Amino acid sequence: MTKEISLKIKSKFTNKFKSGYPLIFKDALLNSEVLKEEGSIVKLFDERNHFIGKGYYGKQNKGYGWVLTQKESEKIDQVFFEKKLHFALKHRAHLYEDAETTAFRVFNGEGDGIGGFTIDYFDGYYLINWYSEGIYQFKESVITSLENLVSFKAIYEKKRFDTKGQYMEDDDFVMGERAEFPLLVKENGAVFAVYLNDGAMVGVFLDQREVRRTIRDQYAAGKTVLNTFSYTGAFSVFAALGGAKKTTSVDLANRSLSKTIEQFRVNDIDYEAQDIIVEDVFKYFKYAVRKQLKFEMVILDPPSFARSKKHTFSAAKDYKNLLKEAIAITEDHGVIVASTNCSTFDMKKFKGFIEAAFKEMNGKYEVLEQFSLPEDFKTIKEFKEGNYLKVVFIKKIKG
Ligand code: SAH
Repeated sequence: MTKEISLKIKSKFTNKFKSGYPLIFKDALLNSEVLKEEGSIVKLFDERNHFIGKGYYGKQNKGYGWVLTQKESEKIDQVFFEKKLHFALKHRAHLYEDAETTAFRVFNGEGDGIGGFTIDYFDGYYLINWYSEGIYQFKESVITSLENLVSFKAIYEKKRFDTKGQYMEDDDFVMGERAEFPLLVKENGAVFAVYLNDGAMVGVFLDQREVRRTIRDQYAAGKTVLNTFSYTGAFSVFAALGGAKKTTSVDLANRSLSKTIEQFRVNDIDYEAQDIIVEDVFKYFKYAVRKQLKFEMVILDPPSFARSKKHTFSAAKDYKNLLKEAIAITEDHGVIVASTNCSTFDMKKFKGFIEAAFKEMNGKYEVLEQFSLPEDFKTIKEFKEGNYLKVVFIKKIKG
């Protein structure tokens, strides 16, 4: 971890890094073969050997690590981590004071100055997600910083990287007093049951907080709501709390049934009055058309990429068709909530899919409002891909 490695940046990319782009990508490197041990400190130089930035080597998707500072003399040590974490916590101070919301993100990777890991807060418990072997080498610095800055009941972690095929479902507990799961956390007054020790996903995606509140407070009353790719039914819960006539949740995963029942239960909603269907969404669309079912609100929140028995779904390629299927079973003047977390296209392109879908259906629509990441999922303008979330509320006029 202490060895410093010099990386030469191709001339056509030096300005990109000089203006603050944080992700070290292979294509930018002239000598990537010098990278050996993840967690090594790297120094970036231009072709005339001028210093550009300092960071670490860690393989994360197509990335080779992150730039952490443009100051050559700055040390990447525990003090550095603590300073970034301190600043990040200050940015969320008001969230800690809100008794109605006890789950939020406190550190969002490169958005808070250090790419490769995130920290979420769940009512006294902290969960660290590590996205590379490289950043995992700095675990002690991160843990020490947390110990110095906050009081906690416990710290949990998830390693979101492969360890050469030897990945084992580790116990995710790091330190403190072990929690009893599910943990019941709050979001704008609603309750979520979360599990910090049960696979990569904890039960709720915190980045949709504003969207859930908007559905509950402004759209759901009296409506029939179809929630597709529903996972634990978080959108359905908020729709029901907002007075929806009925919610229908559809997800392919077997676990979604018991998980969704649990989320309704902890919110005192009669789950038997709701439909929870374990099925391929694309099959359900066909069923709904055959039965002439229509909904006043349809929520679409697919994964960026998914393979089921019959389908491969890629948001970048297939979102337009997904929208067409949704349009067909949405009532006139109904609302489609189209969401994607795909980072390979931006809001403009996403709106292009919406435009194309309605056009191909000879339909008409109006965009009512749109959302990107909430403030606790801090992003920086130098790294647009980091702002991956795009959610558009669309009113179907006809189609
Ligand atoms: N909307 C959810 C998050 C969705 S996560 C929320 O707000 O919490 C993506 C979900 O899509 C997963 O639960 C996965 O099981 C489901 N999924 C993937 N492909 C599917 C398909 N073809 N049909 C139904 N569900 C699918």
